[in-house]
Amino acid sequence: MTSAEIIARTLAHEVPIYARWPVAFVRGAGAELWDAEGRRYLDFFAGLAVNNLGHCHPAVVEAVRAQAGRLLHVSNLYHAPPVGELAELLCRHSFAERVFLCNSGAEANEAALKLARRWGHAVGAGRFEILATHNSFHGRTLGALSATGQERYRTGFLPLLPGIRLVPYGDAAAMEAAVRPETVAILVEPIQGEGGVVVPPADYLPRLREIADRHCLLLMLDEIQTGLGRTGRLFAHEHAGIVPDVMTLAKALGGGVPIGALCTSERVARVLEPGAHGTTFGGNLLACAAASAALRVLADPATLAHAVAMGRRLRAGLETLAARHPRIRSIRGMGLMLGAVLDGQGRDIVERCLERGLLVNCTAEVVLRFLPPLVIRPEQIDEGLGILDEAMAG
Ligand code: PLP
Repeated sequence: MTSAEIIARTLAHEVPIYARWPVAFVRGAGAELWDAEGRRYLDFFAGLAVNNLGHCHPAVVEAVRAQAGRLLHVSNLYHAPPVGELAELLCRHSFAERVFLCNSGAEANEAALKLARRWGHAVGAGRFEILATHNSFHGRTLGALSATGQERYRTGFLPLLPGIRLVPYGDAAAMEAAVRPETVAILVEPIQGEGGVVVPPADYLPRLREIADRHCLLLMLDEIQTGLGRTGRLFAHEHAGIVPDVMTLAKALGGGVPIGALCTSERVARVLEPGAHGTTFGGNLLACAAASAALRVLADPATLAHAVAMGRRLRAGLETLAARHPRIRSIRGMGLMLGAVLDGQGRDIVERCLERGLLVNCTAEVVLRFLPPLVIRPEQIDEGLGILDEAMAG
């Protein structure tokens, strides 16, 4: 099948909610992809922060192959080894003592919102309100969307859920001022991803932790984009030296296979009893096997050290480009989650990069976003920067 045939078939039958670029990929390895005609592309997007281990990482492929030949699904009425294995690994590598497994980021956040409501009813004297932030992104289900502070995702879907209120991001004083007797939880991203790679002040998360403690709130961190090595630590909150009460994960967790997770403490998990929440495919055996394999590699100090080194190299290269191209106003981000803030819309640059064989993305309209696989090699970073340099020149 040619790329044109693949594209035509999708466009003819899919609900048209995705503004796809006109390329069709058939194969990938590490930070490289190939289209149906065999043309090679360098990937600085990693499937939107999913392919942190690159495409078809051998450990993930092998785990999927082995599990696929053994057992795919048994439901949550029974036990099977991959579930406990992944849950144990997640607890070993984080603050968590309990995990709830699901299928996506929105679903993990939905579980967090329900957990906060349940916590409020169980121990918080009927408190229910969740504070989230402007410019955030937490997913497309109605609950997650109600915590998403960007108008363009909400248009046409009102009314959203009551009991979720938005406050300015990065402003701890505004967060504290917003706390009311009915408030039960705070939900924030450690760095806003879809909002434009917005890094809050260094004391933001520590101050939110203090506020949560002072007012008996749950501090819930959405690490769906920032997690699993993306910022150079396994979880972005580690940079701030704090521990949340709840953390949501998805994207990179499955090494390319869909999975989400809510991680929390024993104390908080206790408010959910059998039957209180659930999902048919939560803890699917194939997804769990893939995730355990991926997590072992992602949590390896060598993987994280490489991500830090590649992040420094990419950032230095972007700073050099910023000095040469006046359209770039500033560079921001952490690790391999970087953004170049432009003086206007960046779609034309993304298009020219694609024509030259480089995948990048533009978010919040004016922020070129760079999310390469953590396993990217130094010469691939340099090659991508070279393509970007040409694309910026027009
Ligand atoms: N939370 C954050 C921070 C995200 O970046 C995303 C997706 O981009 C989501 C939640 C939603 O995840 P999903 O698309 O898997 O539902």
